[in-house]
Amino acid sequence: MTLDIDDVDLARHQLDDRSDWDNHETVAHYEREFAVWNGSRYAFAFMSGRVALSACIHALDLKPGDEVIVPGYTCIVVPNAFHYAGMKIIYVDIELDTYGIDITDLSRKITPKTRAITIQHLYGLVSRDYLKILELAQIHGIKVIEDCAHSTGATMNSIKVGNRGDVSFYSTEQSKIITTVQGGLATTNDEIIAKRLREYCYNTSPTNDHLTEYLLNNVILNYYSYKHPQRWWLGDYANLIHGKYRLISTTAEEEHGIKPSNYGMTMRAPIARIGLNQLRKIDHYNVRRVATATRWRSWCEEQDYSPPLVIQGSDPVFLRYPVLVEPEKKKDTRWAIDQLGVNIGVWYVSNLHPVPGIVADCPNADTAVAHCVNMPCLID
Ligand SMILES: *Cc1c(COP(=O)(O)O)cnc(C)c1O
Repeated sequence: MTLDIDDVDLARHQLDDRSDWDNHETVAHYEREFAVWNGSRYAFAFMSGRVALSACIHALDLKPGDEVIVPGYTCIVVPNAFHYAGMKIIYVDIELDTYGIDITDLSRKITPKTRAITIQHLYGLVSRDYLKILELAQIHGIKVIEDCAHSTGATMNSIKVGNRGDVSFYSTEQSKIITTVQGGLATTNDEIIAKRLREYCYNTSPTNDHLTEYLLNNVILNYYSYKHPQRWWLGDYANLIHGKYRLISTTAEEEHGIKPSNYGMTMRAPIARIGLNQLRKIDHYNVRRVATATRWRSWCEEQDYSPPLVIQGSDPVFLRYPVLVEPEKKKDTRWAIDQLGVNIGVWYVSNLHPVPGIVADCPNADTAVAHCVNMPCLID
């Protein structure tokens, strides 16, 4: 929803003229611009958020057998990154106010082997126990990774999320705050961690020509399929020309916990150019999201659903607006089109979305899986 005709023009231009695809300065420019916008000292760009997370794992020097705390309500690609590093994953329950890790359950599950905690800020909200978890981690000498994939730009006491933990990652996949179809960033304010992130980049190849070409075609395809005012017919037309390039975010092998052979690439110049263009609009779109959220808040009040909690001192960005509804309304969401005129989302359909099966001992996460739907916040 953040792709516009200028992004399409940019993608077309990159496809027509490949002479500048290896311009590393463009990628460095994107990294600098993101770091400045985010209020971080360092940023590094990758082919996806999950790869940015793998870079974070390397940067923190986490080792096989180390325990990491992960919320029992996340995307499968998050535990996969830890699993690829040979780490032991300990799932912790969430709270149902902001869908972040619950500090009470977290305190119970810390062991002498715990080396890292993943704080996840979901739906654009700032995680309820954010500051308390940081404090607890500090007391125990545990590293903190912030998952800002949904909440890029959300602030806590005027500081953007991702700047208080040791290292953080962001996603620019097609359903996120801004998009390069697939893409991600890792940030830190620590010089030693930055050095190790840079080292990971040096040992990683840039996105190959094949994937780059696919990504650029998906910029065009997505704009005409989901955004253009005449998408009802232009979408079909774009599909005829660019449909063969359609990408899926998570492959079947990843759903089975297998590391894809092309996993782990840094971002390439043409994709960084789309990222730079998206970055120029990020605040504009986030303001629109927040405005739409007030509509959903009123709707919750009318319907007697409790709205999500905006913790004191925080400014969320509302990638989506989460609401706990009756399970029947999550299983079949057609009512939303009839009653509200929108398509609603069902993140997450399982504890480790989208892979079926449950995670033991996370009852609130199970409740969210059964009840939580999310309302779109960029509607035209
Ligand atoms: C999308 C997402 C990721 C992974 O980002 P990719 O760019 O798709 O690899 C990680 N965590 C959360 C919460 C996400 O929504």
